[in-house]
Amino acid sequence: MRFDTLQIHAASEPDGPLGARQLPIYPGNAFLFGTLGRASDLFSLDEAGPIYTRIGNPSMTALEGRLTALEGGAAAVAFASGQAAETAALLNVVRSGDHIVSSPVIYGGTYNLIKNTLGDLGIAVTFVEQPEDPGAWAAAIRPNTRILFTESIGNPNNSVYDYRVIADVAAAHQVLFCVDNTAATPYLFRPFEHGADIVIHSASKFLGGHGVAIGGLVIDGGTFDYAASERYPMMTQTDPSYRLSFADKFGKLAFAQRLRCNILRDTGAAMSPFTAWIIAQGIETLSLRMSRHVSNALAIAQWLEEHPDVGAVNYCGLESNRYYDLAMRYLPRGQGAVFCFDINGGYEQAVRFVEALRLFSHAANIGDLRSLVLHPASTTHSQMSDDERTLAGLSPGSVRLSVGLEDVNDLIEDLDDGLSRSHRS
Ligand SMILES: *Cc1c(COP(=O)(O)O)cnc(C)c1O
Repeated sequence: MRFDTLQIHAASEPDGPLGARQLPIYPGNAFLFGTLGRASDLFSLDEAGPIYTRIGNPSMTALEGRLTALEGGAAAVAFASGQAAETAALLNVVRSGDHIVSSPVIYGGTYNLIKNTLGDLGIAVTFVEQPEDPGAWAAAIRPNTRILFTESIGNPNNSVYDYRVIADVAAAHQVLFCVDNTAATPYLFRPFEHGADIVIHSASKFLGGHGVAIGGLVIDGGTFDYAASERYPMMTQTDPSYRLSFADKFGKLAFAQRLRCNILRDTGAAMSPFTAWIIAQGIETLSLRMSRHVSNALAIAQWLEEHPDVGAVNYCGLESNRYYDLAMRYLPRGQGAVFCFDINGGYEQAVRFVEALRLFSHAANIGDLRSLVLHPASTTHSQMSDDERTLAGLSPGSVRLSVGLEDVNDLIEDLDDGLSRSHRS
């Protein structure tokens, strides 16, 4: 089946004796075992099925199945938020003394997680200074490196890398390549087709699409051979709680199994069944919304580029953009709907602009069907030093837009009005 069909029909069999056609919400905490034999099989991982909602629930299973189908992966695990998904995915394979290689141009929350919270646990990171250069990724890999991490359209500077070549670097070193695909969604980009091993989503953004639920997912491509790599003792050695080796028992699905059975079980950041249901509703219209998001975003980026009060427009769908060729190769359906641009003048003008807008809501979110605006230097990226912000591609006058689904002419009028007010003293 094709994408538009899968987003509606994947993992959505009519349920139960009532024949409910739409996805039900299962609020229950626990599910009947039946026999003691079955209970014991569920606990020893000899059988898969719902036990207790913290580690799995049919509403979550349906959402996980849909994302697995849309990404073309093998299994997925839902979490309470995108950050819970990032944390769990990383903790699944890194331990104290291990090392992560990451793009420096990533969501501020993930940057803090990797640099500070995991750093405090004794996990080192190298933020690749020239992430456009796959050779720089290769040079950063150490014997204790466990994961290469990037985003599919970098937040906030719209960076697009040669993912296939980075994936080849990862494969040559038998290390996992993980892509946060929040900004592109599987409608615009499918990382597994380009060699990624693990995909992470904040479902709070375009997947849910309406700005009304926080959630996250990790999708396992099911292609990494843990037994062939020396980097993953947590997969190949005997797990102390289940007394089995995840790589032996689950083969190439070891990552997803351990993520659910150990990390989600122990850290407890489970997605609520109600959230799973809301996000599943959003996904049913994902392709329709993404087409409109990207056509509005491109029109606005082109308009801004011509505006005399605007400096650089960092949208990878513009021919002038340094990532344009890679964006055309990896994101032919559209280049996302979140980007930054620089207001001439700087900090003061950016602040006045944000406060003058009426249709764009001033809020810290992306991927809502409402258009949103934010000033990174005073909000999401305020905890960074000036040097870190420059490395992330931000100036004091940078403003970030998340372009929504409104009529693009109304959006442009709002921006035009905001720009003229920002330059009036
Ligand atoms: C929002 C976001 C996250 C974090 O997701 P939450 O659901 O807010 O926890 C991670 N990565 C990217 C790219 C994001 O945009």
